[in-house]
Amino acid sequence: MPQGEIVRVRYAPSPTGAPHIGNTHTALFIWLFARHSGGRFIVRIEDTDRERYVPGSLETILEGLRWLGLDWDEGPEVGGPKGPYFQSQRLKIYQQFARHLVETGHAYYCYCSQERLEEMRREQAARKEPPGYDRRCRNLTSKERGEFESQGIVPVVRLKVPLEGKTAFHDLIHGTVTFDNRTLDDMVLLKSDGYPTYHLAVVVDDHLMEITHIMRGDEWVPSVPRHILLYQALGWEPPKFVHLPMLLGPDRSKLAKRHGAASVLGYKANGYLPEAVLNFLAIVGWAYDDKTEIFTRDELIQRFSIQGIGHTPAIFSQEKMDWMNGYYIRQLSIEELARRAMPFLAQAGLIDDKTDVAYLHRVMPLVQERIKKLTEVAGLIDFLFLEKISYDPALLIGKEMDRSATTRALESSLVLLKAQDSFDAVALEAALRPLAGQLGLTPGQLFGTIRVAISGKTVAPPLFESLAVLGRDRMLKRLAQALELTKTLR
Ligand code: GLU
Ligand code: ZN
Repeated sequence: MPQGEIVRVRYAPSPTGAPHIGNTHTALFIWLFARHSGGRFIVRIEDTDRERYVPGSLETILEGLRWLGLDWDEGPEVGGPKGPYFQSQRLKIYQQFARHLVETGHAYYCYCSQERLEEMRREQAARKEPPGYDRRCRNLTSKERGEFESQGIVPVVRLKVPLEGKTAFHDLIHGTVTFDNRTLDDMVLLKSDGYPTYHLAVVVDDHLMEITHIMRGDEWVPSVPRHILLYQALGWEPPKFVHLPMLLGPDRSKLAKRHGAASVLGYKANGYLPEAVLNFLAIVGWAYDDKTEIFTRDELIQRFSIQGIGHTPAIFSQEKMDWMNGYYIRQLSIEELARRAMPFLAQAGLIDDKTDVAYLHRVMPLVQERIKKLTEVAGLIDFLFLEKISYDPALLIGKEMDRSATTRALESSLVLLKAQDSFDAVALEAALRPLAGQLGLTPGQLFGTIRVAISGKTVAPPLFESLAVLGRDRMLKRLAQALELTKTLR
């Protein structure tokens, strides 16, 4: 890249389904490199595979980028000087270059039928030969070609791969990679329906869009020699190559759903914060030093470098991501936490437009220290929103307690709290703690019974803070309700 030239990098997703978290990881690294270098981040939609096209996936891809704040300078919705940015709208360009390659002797028309190619593959398999086109049409005479044409056969265009020699390229992460040309077959560049293959489209677009660094997952390394041959045939200088480490699960197998990996919008739905996902993905496969793990968005942009990218597969740990999400949740202000939790509480049917936001702000401190995901909030604090709670009355009886001890505990608590005039957490604890001893119970036993009575759960946010938020009337009502329930117990 000549001095002073501006970095241009692209994220080139195919709309073939919801983006895997590995795709998002790739997008983030490309975006970070663009922002770090003051360059352009381009999104190009590789939608030429019509069989694998999944409607709606484009929207999902873009929404995932937006959720993480990975803004693009050129591409869908924003356009740009090198468009169109959808490959399906560039067919004429690819057709023109395919024709040019045939005319200059670097490619040729192949008229082989599907049946013939299948037959050929079967025979190769039977002879235990590697599969690959047998180059039958590579040297057709013009008479032979004319015959096929007159039969109305529409050919594909294939690259004339050199029969010997080696093709090498330099990768900023992998170093020099060399392939023996004999391992490459004469790949199709243009299909008979006029659509390009990935190889032709990617080379033409990366060149015309003036991409300076091709960054993508390293599963694409084996395709590069084919691309290099195309660059050579077209007389173009290839960009720099940066093949990013693949994401693996903790067991070192390819990252999959069973490792907890979801699509990026799946993480959104599962209660993760975008800043946590951003930070977490950035430190999978990239390191600034050997210790720093928490980075703000600006710090990531400032410190990101290709040198910091690992050479070995990056291990994706769901546990670590959950830890980091919890960390970011604890960094939020109460108001912000409430704002982020609201969609989840609404989804659980606990709040609506009329819910008092000030009340939400009182509830949030009860959960902030104990959750890792926003999806956990509703289950912990539903009792603070529900008119009536229901639970198994047997839960009221704590460890080594019986029905009469439980009844007594509830009766005495009711009497005590009815007479109480201060209802903040400290005053409530000061009042209730001595009661345990008077009843011959441990504090754990008494508080456990009260906890179930007010929340319906054995595990809930801190008791006295919860009581304080619940307020006098509701707490007395629930204790009375629990006392009623003890009558059904044996
Ligand atoms: N369209 C390819 C994909 O979906 C991108 C390959 C590339 O970046 O060259 O992964
Ligand atoms: Zn052929």
